[in-house]
Amino acid sequence: MIIVLLGPPGAGKGTQGEKLADQLGIPKVATGDVLRAAVRDQTPMGLAAKAAMDRGDLVPDEVILGIMKDALAGPGAARGAILDGVVRTVPQAIGLSRVLGELGRSLDAVLLFEVDDEALVGRLSGRTVCESCQTPYAGQAPGSACAKCGGTLVRRKDDEPEAIRNRLRTYHAQTAPVIGWYEQAGGPVRRVDALGTMDEVLGRARRALGL
Ligand SMILES: [Zn+2]
Repeated sequence: MIIVLLGPPGAGKGTQGEKLADQLGIPKVATGDVLRAAVRDQTPMGLAAKAAMDRGDLVPDEVILGIMKDALAGPGAARGAILDGVVRTVPQAIGLSRVLGELGRSLDAVLLFEVDDEALVGRLSGRTVCESCQTPYAGQAPGSACAKCGGTLVRRKDDEPEAIRNRLRTYHAQTAPVIGWYEQAGGPVRRVDALGTMDEVLGRARRALGL
């Protein structure tokens, strides 16, 4: 079973993806992880990626797709994989579709985690972190004391409401066309309401996949 995860920052798709991967007995493949592994193992694609990074360039889509193809062709992914962060743009969706075709495999589901923007702003802006020991907190106001070390809790710049709204604007601008592309190509888009407890959302994701 090959599943692509889509969802806005803060929707919890990474955690849900890990739980699903555990339950299905298949790996969760995240772009950053396979990229680091390929560079470490000095595969041909890993060397190409490192050359780009050493020049200060973004790693080209073609190289990322090559690394993804190697990962999907490996024995670990023989029964499938959950792909997180692999598809963010339409060219990447087209590239993944081509790679899967070359491997004689196909995409079983695009799992789209949906949360209302303002609910995400509320959730993410409620995060604080201790400025001394970096312990993260949820629902503790900035200025409160850290339960571990007594340090002051602060909100990271990334978690300011305006910064979150900016990230969400970027996400929607990139992702709406991806969803449209999959739907038009007959791709199996499955929408999951991602507002709720971890178990509630996991249950919905399993039902959406027909598990
Ligand atoms: Zn602390």
